[in-house]
Amino acid sequence: MVDLQTQYQQIKPEIDKGIQQVIDSAAFVKGQIVTDFQNQLADYLGVKHVIAVGNGTDALQISLMALGLKPGDEVITPTFTFIATAEVAALLGYTPVVVDVDYETFNMDPESVRKAITPKTKAIVPVHLFGQCANMDAIMEIAREKGLYVVEDACQAIGSEYTFADGTKKKAGCIGNLGCTSFFPSKNLGCYGDGGAIFTDDDELAQKVRVIANHGMTVRYHHDLIGVNSRLDSIQAAVLQAKLPHLDEYSAARQAAAAYYDKAFGQNEHILLPGRNPQSTHVFHQYTLRLIAPEGTDNAAYRDQVREALISRGVPAMIYYPVPLHLQKAYLDPRYKEGDFPQAEKLAASVISLPMHTCLDEEQLEFITRNLLEIIG
Ligand SMILES: *Cc1c(COP(=O)(O)O)cnc(C)c1O
Repeated sequence: MVDLQTQYQQIKPEIDKGIQQVIDSAAFVKGQIVTDFQNQLADYLGVKHVIAVGNGTDALQISLMALGLKPGDEVITPTFTFIATAEVAALLGYTPVVVDVDYETFNMDPESVRKAITPKTKAIVPVHLFGQCANMDAIMEIAREKGLYVVEDACQAIGSEYTFADGTKKKAGCIGNLGCTSFFPSKNLGCYGDGGAIFTDDDELAQKVRVIANHGMTVRYHHDLIGVNSRLDSIQAAVLQAKLPHLDEYSAARQAAAAYYDKAFGQNEHILLPGRNPQSTHVFHQYTLRLIAPEGTDNAAYRDQVREALISRGVPAMIYYPVPLHLQKAYLDPRYKEGDFPQAEKLAASVISLPMHTCLDEEQLEFITRNLLEIIG
């Protein structure tokens, strides 16, 4: 699905030099390099504060902690996504409330959000799934109208740019009160271990996030808030510092691979291409098709067979995500039942993601597309 080895070879001198400098300095934790990287990423994003943390899930958890919600407060997140957004809300004693997604873009459906709002709703956590932004005009409008916080999960969408109806442009994660990303190795800007970051233009929230991420400590050994220990280490910052100048090239390489896939699959009656939000650029963390089974065949079974056949021919393929959150065992809630979120359920039964990374060459793309088309017929 990804090829981190080839990508490393392309920038090996920059990465090796950065890592060696950290080892020579022995400033493994809280080194100057972490501050420098935070500033460079803030410049790239056009946001005031970047606070690096231990991983993307921590970024989400710390962001929610910084909002100062109370137990039982409701946090709205899409049901078709990775578990992290609902998980951190549940861990903090808040109530994750899930909503349906748009069948074309896979992203949070604003109408579904509107319907889910109750007096207990305090925050909306949209996920910019697979690399393009959710409908942020509508989501920000709902938040303004109802006085809700917005925390963006931009773990899959770093570098993606959203254009508002009035023409204003903002980068994914820099639109809501707080935005989160992950530097997990396979993410669009990945380090060589774990890492994550929180973005915000709000000075007060930024300060709160910094304090919470550092044991709730304001002055050494004086703890004003209940916090956690979550930080990006210097070696990871060195890797990210070497990769950040290449991020736009990496996005372009992903977009080129996506264009190749689009062209190959656009005419097939059993394949629906990933829908695009015209207001967002797409940085293709994943290239995700929807497979449409022949009449009378169970869609999920058909999709799973296609995946097995691809794998047996040496083509990796993954299902992101096979089970929506409202049908996950740990999150079963008497308020929800199968059929409640039809678009998400339809997607869970039809999606398949193909290899997507910055080093896909023509030969690989030809091999992948030819095999999928042969299997589907
Ligand atoms: C990867 C990811 C996360 C979690 O990031 P980690 O660094 O693995 O903790 C959260 N949300 C989404 C949508 C992700 O893709």
